[in-house]
Amino acid sequence: MGETIFSKIIKKEIPAEIVYESDTVLAFRDINPQAPVHILIIPKIEIPTVREINGLEHASLLGEMYDAANQIAKDEGISENGFRLVFNCGDNGGQEVYHIHMHLLGGRQMQWPPG
Ligand code: AMP
Repeated sequence: MGETIFSKIIKKEIPAEIVYESDTVLAFRDINPQAPVHILIIPKIEIPTVREINGLEHASLLGEMYDAANQIAKDEGISENGFRLVFNCGDNGGQEVYHIHMHLLGGRQMQWPPG
């Protein structure tokens, strides 16, 4: 499995603005923000895409990622007004980094449908 730029962020080999860290989950600000708040929440284990997620194996990890998103949204002051959580998957989903990541976007009115 190829190492991604996110593996290097997990190992602290390249810098990132980390806003949350636990034994299993890391969150940092997106380098190219699409909203006033744009944070990526990732597992520390390598899972390339959402296609490799298995409910039995990853239920607790996914729960932790959603807990992190809720905590960060509160910390960033966007919880009450609302926010968006997105996983892109594969080429058509617009995924660029093949280490799953939840985008937490907020601080402005989101539009629908997405591009
Ligand atoms: P996706 O298109 O869903 O794979 O999203 C990948 C995201 O990673 C994009 O929003 C990029 O701006 C972001 N990104 C890429 N490299 C870095 C980095 N070194 N630090 C923070 N965010 C990054």
